[in-house]
Amino acid sequence: MGDLHFSRVAFIGIGLIGSSLAHVLRRDQSAQTIVACARTQATLDTARELGICDETTLDPAVAAKGADLVVIAAPHSAYAALGRAIAPSLEKGAILTDVGSVKGAAVRDLGPIVPPGVHFIPGHPVAGTEHSGPAAGFAEMFQGRWCILTPLPGTDEAALAKLTRLWESAGMKVETMSHEHHDVVLAITSHLPHLIAYTIVGTATDVEETLKAEIIKFSASGFRDFTRIAASDPVMWRDVFLSNREAVLDMLQRFNEDLTALQRAIRWGEGDKLEALFTRTRAIRRSIIEAKQA
Ligand code: NAP
Repeated sequence: MGDLHFSRVAFIGIGLIGSSLAHVLRRDQSAQTIVACARTQATLDTARELGICDETTLDPAVAAKGADLVVIAAPHSAYAALGRAIAPSLEKGAILTDVGSVKGAAVRDLGPIVPPGVHFIPGHPVAGTEHSGPAAGFAEMFQGRWCILTPLPGTDEAALAKLTRLWESAGMKVETMSHEHHDVVLAITSHLPHLIAYTIVGTATDVEETLKAEIIKFSASGFRDFTRIAASDPVMWRDVFLSNREAVLDMLQRFNEDLTALQRAIRWGEGDKLEALFTRTRAIRRSIIEAKQA
């Protein structure tokens, strides 16, 4: 990706995702200057120690000033205020993007503040871990995963191509779709599974003390896999559910219906129904492995 070059990249939020992309830019030397902005000085100090930025600031407007790429990598609930703060600093010709997990909310909160001549292209690298903060980031996190960009109608082709090249340089495969479609797809592939994991692990914490010790001891029988997902960042996931409310509630409704059908099959001893479902779901796992997304 030798031809990819930014003169000043501003990360507004430099946690798991922001720092991982900063590692990529550093590794490939595709940014002359990297500026990190966060809420706390401690995060900025860590980012500096990691060597992933040249400048740090607590002021988003200072970070965005003069940047040809501004990446919002903060929780969704901060978007509207961050947008208002950076708007006067955004330079004509700059690309403004984000990495948030809900794209309708990004368009709603950032879209109105974008000055003319600034290329706003929402994005979502579908990669991550259950860890947070800049120290958890690493360049290889994006390797082989999908990045979804949700350009609005009329988006500048050259800006879109440049942002696409950036994510490709991180090892990602890039697909574009509408923000509405993105939010429906992610509600089923990501948001609902997280909600289910939070519920199961929550249920387990409510049982009596004697049972609790055994839950930990025998967790490898299935529970453990849910605890990894349910260890994901509480603030980020609070924001995801509140930002993608409608699509999540719709998927949850369907899930509830399917769960009720399963409950009924168990009650009436309908083994054939259970087996048919479990056979179908096993095939899905195989397709994920074949698609190298396991
Ligand atoms: P993170 O590790 O918790 O980092 C969040 C960053 O945002 C921190 O640097 C934090 O600064 C900063 N921040 C929070 N509020 C801010 C504010 N008001 N102004 C400026 N900076 C602020 O979170 P993350 O996992 O990187 O997630 C960031 C975004 O990526 C979220 O929108 C999330 O939906 C999306 N995403 C996450 C994943 C994942 O697996 N984690 C995957 C794909 C997309 P302080 O540390 O100083 O508070």
